[in-house]
Amino acid sequence: MAATILVVEDEEPILNLVVAYLKADGFVVHTARDGESALQQAQTVRPDLVVLDLLLPGIDGLEICRRLQHDGGPYVLMLTARAEEVDKVVGLSVGADDYLTKPFSPRELVARVKAILRRRRHTGAAPAENTLLTFRDLQIDVARREVQRRGVPVTLTAREFDLLYTLAAMPGRVFTREQLLERVWGHDFDGVDRVVDVHISLLRRKLEDDPAEPTLIQTVRGVGYKFTG
Ligand code: CA
Repeated sequence: MAATILVVEDEEPILNLVVAYLKADGFVVHTARDGESALQQAQTVRPDLVVLDLLLPGIDGLEICRRLQHDGGPYVLMLTARAEEVDKVVGLSVGADDYLTKPFSPRELVARVKAILRRRRHTGAAPAENTLLTFRDLQIDVARREVQRRGVPVTLTAREFDLLYTLAAMPGRVFTREQLLERVWGHDFDGVDRVVDVHISLLRRKLEDDPAEPTLIQTVRGVGYKFTG
């Protein structure tokens, strides 16, 4: 079944170009030109992925991205006008799954979209008997992509969930940042190599009693991270 993509962009030429390339690749494509209608469309068409421009009339891309982060929410590929904005967006950690700086090649955009969706199939295709991972007070429902801590749901972004799942599926195994980038992001982020650290710290804030003294996800100095739940 073809994935549904919502493209949110107020610049008509870019919107048309992106839509044309995605349609040519067989995706079902919906569009929005401002923040309000983006959020409305996201509710009605329930896209698998949103291509989201950062600067929009009305509600901006950052805020939209934040509001899209709920259980079962779509993946987000953020478009930014300048390379420095990527750093800002990653720093703010609004939960975007990938970033592209304008001007970008539409082929590159389609490739990124496919990479994100491929990754989801990976993590979504866990064997049935292995869909519930339980560690002390943490429960990870792989099939539903839901996390509970002491019975209380924890809201993770799609990327945070994938990172947690990657680590927790092999407790005790040490992953390097490069391995996590490859498994969770699917490709290298040019110039944003601390993206793994940023997401680990976000996970700790949501999951650890004391993020400064983590007990679930531990840093292995000079190497990377391991799950010790
Ligand atoms: Ca714009």
